[in-house]
Amino acid sequence: MNFENTLAFAQALDQADPLRELRQDFLFPQQNGKPFIYLCGNSLGLQPKAAREVLNEQLNNWQNYAVEGWFEGKTPWMFYHKELKKLMAPLVGASPAEVCPMNTLTVNLHLLLVSFYKPKPGKYKIIMEAGAFPSDQYAIESQVRFHGYDPKAAIIEVAPREGEYILRTEDIINAIAESGNEIALVLFGGVNYFTGQWFDMEAITKAGHAVDAIVGFDLAHAAGNVPVQLHAWNIDFACWCSYKYQNSGPGGISGIFVHEKHFSDSSLNRFAGWWGYQEQQRFKMEKGFVPEAGADGWQVSCTQVMPMALYYASLQSFEKAGFINPLREKSKTLTAYLFFIINEVNMVLEMEQYKIITPTNEADRGAQVSIIAKEKGKEVFEQLVANNVLGDWREPNVIRLSPVPLYNSFEDVFETGALLLEISKKILVK
Ligand SMILES: *Cc1c(COP(=O)(O)O)cnc(C)c1O
Repeated sequence: MNFENTLAFAQALDQADPLRELRQDFLFPQQNGKPFIYLCGNSLGLQPKAAREVLNEQLNNWQNYAVEGWFEGKTPWMFYHKELKKLMAPLVGASPAEVCPMNTLTVNLHLLLVSFYKPKPGKYKIIMEAGAFPSDQYAIESQVRFHGYDPKAAIIEVAPREGEYILRTEDIINAIAESGNEIALVLFGGVNYFTGQWFDMEAITKAGHAVDAIVGFDLAHAAGNVPVQLHAWNIDFACWCSYKYQNSGPGGISGIFVHEKHFSDSSLNRFAGWWGYQEQQRFKMEKGFVPEAGADGWQVSCTQVMPMALYYASLQSFEKAGFINPLREKSKTLTAYLFFIINEVNMVLEMEQYKIITPTNEADRGAQVSIIAKEKGKEVFEQLVANNVLGDWREPNVIRLSPVPLYNSFEDVFETGALLLEISKKILVK
């Protein structure tokens, strides 16, 4: 598409957008009596208006049924997670049996590593992306130590080439092949939190399986953002948080995926709890853990009803949108427009003041644009916020802006560009 840097053009794109009404289902933060242009959905998604209602419904159930709420009411808590599983599955390309809402992300990463990182002498290495989200680094390091290995020897990080910011798929594949059978586990982010790079998950999975390794993904920045196909790509396990692109609120519940091919593997270790026990027999309270079939068998503690209610409200907005594919279509154009607008700002400034490090290739990115500000980046960022554009700042010099197709418009992107130019002119001549 030939983009134009005009308000009229942006508004015409909004007029033609079949999802344009969805933003009215969300609450925007305000400053100086005006709503923010919110470009921070990669960090914490906006509150769906339905959240309060769904939460209230559960507060009422608690009030009216108390302990009987586990089996009474419109959504008995005992089975509430099943309502969510139905809506989570199409978002990540899985069957409902393969996914389950539970706990929080890093906790689930640990629980899944207990099952799927099974190091032994000669095959104990983990391969991952350099610069992965710190929580993942710490989780993996501590798991390696827990098994009695040295993280320095066990963890192989694949880094971008000198002078580059994003990883080349061939370099990842080669690194996997190089260590070959020494690799027990390949663990990558789906989308890197810093650069916004969407890795070629299918190719990485194939390469991992070729050396007989287990392959897992952390989808914190991918779930609800890009159309992943966890089952079809034959990925072994995955987990994600739901408070970024999935708008389930701060500290919201996490989701896990376990590929169906592992369901009958009784050799897998688990850190078990009563809620993972066979559902039909759970209240017999018998000795000896027998897991429920499917991803549900990884549950540990009883259903967290309130966080699940918030996630449910959010999943309903994805259902209304037609799940991930229509959103992805809009997202591609919205992100491409932001690329175009940033480059327009550079052109007027006659310098590459804003260097985009997110992949230029559409298939390698989601809804995030990471920008290195050459000069006075922090000042520029602070001025954006002061003028009602909320993105986020990552040390040492990166501004991340995420236009989210559920609630951002092409006009938001245009206005952001206009403001960025105005601010830059002021700050850079100072
Ligand atoms: C956001 C994020 C986390 C956060 O983990 P929590 O346990 O929810 O605090 C972990 N890993 C990745 C890759 C993330 O992007």
